[in-house]
Amino acid sequence: MHAVGIVAAAGSGLRLGADRPKALVPLADRPLVCWAVDTLRDGGVADVVVAVPGDELSAFVTVLPLDVRLVVGGTTRTASVRAALAAVGTGADAVLVHDAARPLTPPDLVVRVLEALSAGARAVVPVLPVVDTTVVVDDDGVVADTVDRSILRRVQTPQGFARDALVDAYAWLPPDAELTDDAAVVRAAGVPVVTVAGDERAAKVTVPHDMALAELQVSR
Ligand code: C5P
Repeated sequence: MHAVGIVAAAGSGLRLGADRPKALVPLADRPLVCWAVDTLRDGGVADVVVAVPGDELSAFVTVLPLDVRLVVGGTTRTASVRAALAAVGTGADAVLVHDAARPLTPPDLVVRVLEALSAGARAVVPVLPVVDTTVVVDDDGVVADTVDRSILRRVQTPQGFARDALVDAYAWLPPDAELTDDAAVVRAAGVPVVTVAGDERAAKVTVPHDMALAELQVSR
């Protein structure tokens, strides 16, 4: 199976309070995007396309290995992945889509996703249980209901897909659609999405506290 990796790295650093795109923020002196590319490669996905902000292309060229392909992303994650997918050749059987914002994802997770694809799955997501009590609130912030958390899962990346399933799903999706992950795109097109065990280390860096936790993990 020939798998190509896509790294979504075209987001801003707004919620992180960063002075640059989040993917360029350093963790132990290396930009988050470099950690994400390494995870894919260490897990066995050598061919990687990275979606980057158009106005920061040269900064990404400077930090990434020469054999990583760069494309200009869009204003939403969905648009960025769509742009990267257009650069994935028809020779690929599978595509793994990963967030640059998950720098400490262990390569084992990539291997688990690849194994599920090899076993015949058309779409695979890593998931973790929900450990907190989870509620529904009304417009006034008053609890309206408690959800049965045993059936809920938190979804991570990398997410894996048969290339044709992902390409067909994106072709079917309206141009301005905005979904928070790619499994939602293929599921909207009717493709069953199977799950594999996620990993707490694949947590997404969103706010400054997440970055502080990541720094702690790499300093141990
Ligand atoms: O904003 P959030 O952290 O949820 O974004 C998840 C990933 O999607 C990040 O790695 C970010 O760089 C990427 N992204 C993107 N293009 C956008 C917005 C987000 O590639 N327009």
